Amino acid sequence: MILKPITIVGGGLAGLTLGIALRQRDVPVTLHEAGRYPRHRVCGEFISGHGQQVLRDLGLEKKIYEAGAIEAKTAAFFTTKISGKNFQLPSPALCLSRYHLDHLLAKEFVRLGGELREQSRYQENFTDGIIRATGRRTQAKEDGWRWFGLKVHARNVTLMADLEIHLQPQGYVGLCQLNGGETNICGLFRSRQPVPDLAQTWRDWLQGVPGSELHSRLAKSDFITDTFCSISGLSLSPQLAISHEECSIGDAITMIAPVTGNGMSMAFESAHLATGPMADYSAGKITWQEAWESVTRHCDQHFSRRLRWSARLQKLMFHPGLAGGLIRIGSSCPTLWNRLIAQTR
Ligand SMILES: Cc1cc2nc3c(=O)[nH]c(=O)nc-3n(C[C@H](O)[C@H](O)[C@H](O)COP(=O)(O)OP(=O)(O)OC[C@H]3O[C@@H](n4cnc5c(N)ncnc54)[C@H](O)[C@@H]3O)c2cc1C
Repeated sequence: MILKPITIVGGGLAGLTLGIALRQRDVPVTLHEAGRYPRHRVCGEFISGHGQQVLRDLGLEKKIYEAGAIEAKTAAFFTTKISGKNFQLPSPALCLSRYHLDHLLAKEFVRLGGELREQSRYQENFTDGIIRATGRRTQAKEDGWRWFGLKVHARNVTLMADLEIHLQPQGYVGLCQLNGGETNICGLFRSRQPVPDLAQTWRDWLQGVPGSELHSRLAKSDFITDTFCSISGLSLSPQLAISHEECSIGDAITMIAPVTGNGMSMAFESAHLATGPMADYSAGKITWQEAWESVTRHCDQHFSRRLRWSARLQKLMFHPGLAGGLIRIGSSCPTLWNRLIAQTR
């Protein structure tokens, strides 16, 4: 049988995962990626939720551990004044640098016979057989706020929990252990003013307010400056897949609040939800319109609850009084955190 080709635009986690899954079904796939591998990405590098099962089902788990993934089992929240207690995560998360993860998936896609075009920024129309996995849709301002993210790795950081989230006046910073004695330091921030020159000021944003637990954690750390990266123009209001003009997966549908640590999972899961319809389209069993509608419907059904809850959690994190209260209550009742986390999965 002659299979119709699929083109994937965007070689982040969603695009590469879909490419791998389709190649495992012998579908001809071309993937355009604007950048090159390996490269650092702004990400907390904390993989949690059902996406881990997608990686297992694709037979990638062993390779991910071989690339240096380590498990995170505990977490703790902090404000500038309150230190929350450690709590056990409902199930272990995987922590792996995107530098290694994206590269590993790109190599796997090529090994399976996929055609990978690096440094190829796709600018044509999205016609039949072309799926969008281009990551976040940029937006300069949302409700008057400019959102931006920063990431760097560091050595000599001592953590109390495998994942620590530190709430700061203008955002939050996550710290999580990576292999090789490195720690991921990743922050989401917002500003009413134009975003400052981050190449000059990133340390001030990530180190937190003097006197805070975060500041003391990072006082003796050594930043690995060539791992630094930043993004701006983030849009954090949940969107539906059906609202887009192209068949989309991953952040190209919508971003989930980073504090949930679920964006990568959504990228993997949406790729999984797209695999069957794309393979059926390729085999001529359904039209492109039917494939697109199926991906859209399944993604919207699958993600709407967690997007609603994550938007609420995100609002709480930016409300100093309520966030402090939540951290106090969560410290004496860890099941509260796990109930909240379960709603964002
Ligand atoms: C501050 C912050 C912290 C985060 N922390 C976590 C975390 O700890 N855990 C978690 O699970 N998630 C986290 N996330 C979210 C996670 O990073 C994303 O959800 C995930 O990367 C989405 O994958 P994707 O493949 O959809 O998009 P991306 O990984 O962004 O990939 C999109 C790709 O498309 C390419 N591209 C774009 N346009 C074109 C074009 N026209 N032609 C060709 N290529 C193109 C880009 O170069 C890019 O490689 C965080 C996000 C932020 C902002």
